[in-house]
Amino acid sequence: MAFGETIDGLIIVPPPSPSETNPPLGPMILARVAARYGLNVEVRDLNMEYIRQFMTDVGTSTGGILGDHGKDRALLAAAAGRFFASTGLCPGEAVHVPDTADPRAGMHFDFDTLRRATGRAAAAGSFWENWLAERLFETVPEPPAVVGISIMGPSQVFLALVVARLVKRHWPESVTVLGGSHVTLLAGEMAAEPRYLEFVDHVLPGHSEEGFATLVRRVRAGRPSAPRIAAPPPAAGRFDYHPLAAARQLALYDPSTLTMPLQFTRGCSYGRCTYCTYPVVEPVATRLDAGRAAAAMGALIREHGITRFSVKDSLLTVPMMLSLAEALEKAGVRARWSATTKVTRSLAVHARRLADAGLATLEFGVETVHRRGQELFDKVTAPGIVEEVAAACADSGIAVVLNLIFGLPGETLDEAEYQLAWFAAQRDRSPGLVDGSLNLLEIVRDSPLALRPPPGVELRGIAPWAYCYDWNAPAWRPELADRLRHVELQANALTRPSAVL
Ligand code: SF4
Repeated sequence: MAFGETIDGLIIVPPPSPSETNPPLGPMILARVAARYGLNVEVRDLNMEYIRQFMTDVGTSTGGILGDHGKDRALLAAAAGRFFASTGLCPGEAVHVPDTADPRAGMHFDFDTLRRATGRAAAAGSFWENWLAERLFETVPEPPAVVGISIMGPSQVFLALVVARLVKRHWPESVTVLGGSHVTLLAGEMAAEPRYLEFVDHVLPGHSEEGFATLVRRVRAGRPSAPRIAAPPPAAGRFDYHPLAAARQLALYDPSTLTMPLQFTRGCSYGRCTYCTYPVVEPVATRLDAGRAAAAMGALIREHGITRFSVKDSLLTVPMMLSLAEALEKAGVRARWSATTKVTRSLAVHARRLADAGLATLEFGVETVHRRGQELFDKVTAPGIVEEVAAACADSGIAVVLNLIFGLPGETLDEAEYQLAWFAAQRDRSPGLVDGSLNLLEIVRDSPLALRPPPGVELRGIAPWAYCYDWNAPAWRPELADRLRHVELQANALTRPSAVL
């Protein structure tokens, strides 16, 4: 957009969101679809503007991992810590806090506490009022018709509410809209409780690129507004693969680590894991169009010189990866890319072929190596198969991220230690090529575990904007939580397997 050009719609990405390498995909898809209707929609990546302030403090390094885990964890932890301190939210006022959560990150506060804190943050002369004036309100030549705010997780809720409140003060004629996956999960609650929607005119759950463009056109045409909370759109068999990235937005990112997120299928063909909300957020699994996927990657290489891509599909199966590899080769597209998949033995067979086609990082949802936990999650894979597949990938040059969950109902500390040691053994076997995402089990809104808690699990409550329940988790978990963070941040802090079980 040329400076001074009218903005039909503005989409704001509030901090903190956990990546300094991947620009947010959903807003860029909304911008692309809006552009097809002749609308000028601009993305304001306030998350990255916030994180950039810390880059000189901490220094960045992301190693060789692409995708969600190709990030500087120390940098992001420093930025998030400073952000939470600046909210003025007092942990002592939190409600329904899970055992190891930071209440400000998980938004474990009631409506009144949050209203007071966001009111203070939006007051004239406050830190956030000044920051948003400088980064947002003073940079837009005239009020946009529609201001969308993207909320992908509870950590973004605080500033999203501050922004909505200030938009109504600075641009009273602008229509405010909430969207994003966290909003999709909360849409039912929002319909029943007006306190969610103070300063918000509309909510667009689900993948709302068509709905957002339609709303902007209606507002531009001066027509009466759409329903306050839209119905989730029907799953489209075909959707846009090609994000519209503005040079101004991409300039916020370090070109040496910038990785473009892409999504080629929606939904999950497995769809059974009992801790997962994907089947709620994306209820229908769509098919991959590998030719269009390769074309989108080729276009982004030509437009921006980007050669690193993170495929965000919840589950890219081996046949899908092979067809993408074939399409890339056929189109002459050379790029490095990452994907998330479920462990299957055929990966060991095809790893080298996929590596040759640019597959650089694979994220595996292993979750737990213990059979009882695997059955609880309805996701059973023998650890020996995971070891075989991870080794084959690493030997082919594909970096592997093992997602592991600790602290399940009834799990003992010894079992958790065993799993941590198992992870260390995989990492030690292939130095620099095996990383981990080590998390304690969260029981999350609308997941099967929350809707039908297993015997012995007691859900004690959930705050209105939170993602996770407070539940009667194993008492040793806080002791392990710090170690898991430490292991993620400092690779050499691992316990040798022989030292535990
Ligand atoms: S955890 Fe992954 S594989 Fe399991 S249902 Fe969710 S998206 Fe699908």
